[in-house]
Formats: sequence, C-alpha cells, structure tokens
Amino acid sequence: MRASFTTRSPEETHALGVRLGLLIRAGDFVGLSGDLGAGKTHFVRGVAQGAGVGSGEVSSPTFAIVLPYCGRITVYHADLYRLRDADELYATGFHDLVGEDGALLVEWIDQVPDAAPKDALMIRIEPLEETERQF
Ligand code: ADP
Ligand code: MG
Repeated sequence: MRASFTTRSPEETHALGVRLGLLIRAGDFVGLSGDLGAGKTHFVRGVAQGAGVGSGEVSSPTFAIVLPYCGRITVYHADLYRLRDADELYATGFHDLVGEDGALLVEWIDQVPDAAPKDALMIRIEPLEETERQF
C-alpha cells in the first residue's frame, strides 16, 4: 500500500511524525530516505514525541550510527549517512535491534536497502518547495 502526505512547514512535518509515533509499536521498523535537509530528523523528532520520548532527547546520531531514546517504548534512531558499507553496519550491532524490544527509525536507509525487513514502513521525503515536503 502507498500513501502520500504533504506538509507545508517543519511544524507540520513534526505533527505528522507525532501521529506515527502514537501508533508505533515495539518491533516496528521505519526506513527514511530523502536528501540532506529533506526533513528526516524533524520527522523522527515528531515520532519520538508521539512515542512518549521527552523533548530535547533527540539529537542527530550521525556519528554514533544509532541512539536509543526512552519513551512508552524504546525508540532507536539510526542515521546511516556516513556508513561506508553493509559490513560496517553489521559491526555496530544494528541488526540485533531489528524486531526487538523497541521501534527502529533509520535515516538514509537507501544507503543499505537490504537492512530493512520486508514489513518495514518505508518513507521517502521529497522537497516540493522551500517549505513544502511530500511524504
Ligand atoms: P534531514 O534529516 O533530512 O537532513 P532535517 O530534518 O535535519 O533534514 O532538516 C530539514 C530542514 O528543512 C530544516 O532546516 C527545516 O527547517 C527545513 N524545512 C522546511 N520546510 C520543511 C518541512 N515542511 N518539513 C521539514 N523540514 C522543513
Ligand atoms: Mg537528519
């Protein structure tokens, strides 16, 4: 199934993320793709808030690869931007998190598409205008 949503500000993207965060469950996998500045991290902040993570906890795991946030469930936030290859991802223990006690949100999933399970929710973010984004 495919669905499309358009947001017209960073706040609307955040709000869309909150809606997903209210529904997200342990074991869920959300893969995000879209260029630098598309709004992946803004969206993840919304999802984390919807999942009960305290505001301010969400930063950018670009260097850590994956960060855990504590909410109603654990939200793991990964960013694969700087990943060199799939082997490096194995070394991080990332695969142990898939389908486990928390939900996994992955920015730059297109770097390692095979890392997403078959039932993943895959979200592509396309900038339409300066402040307009299609999901
Ligand atoms: P990414 O993680 O995809 O690199 P960020 O979420 O860090 O992107 O940044 C998105 C940038 O785009 C921010 O500077 C934000 O203010 C801007 N922006 C403008 N319009 C939107 C929108 N509708 N949704 C999300 N971000 C937007
Ligand atoms: Mg980002």
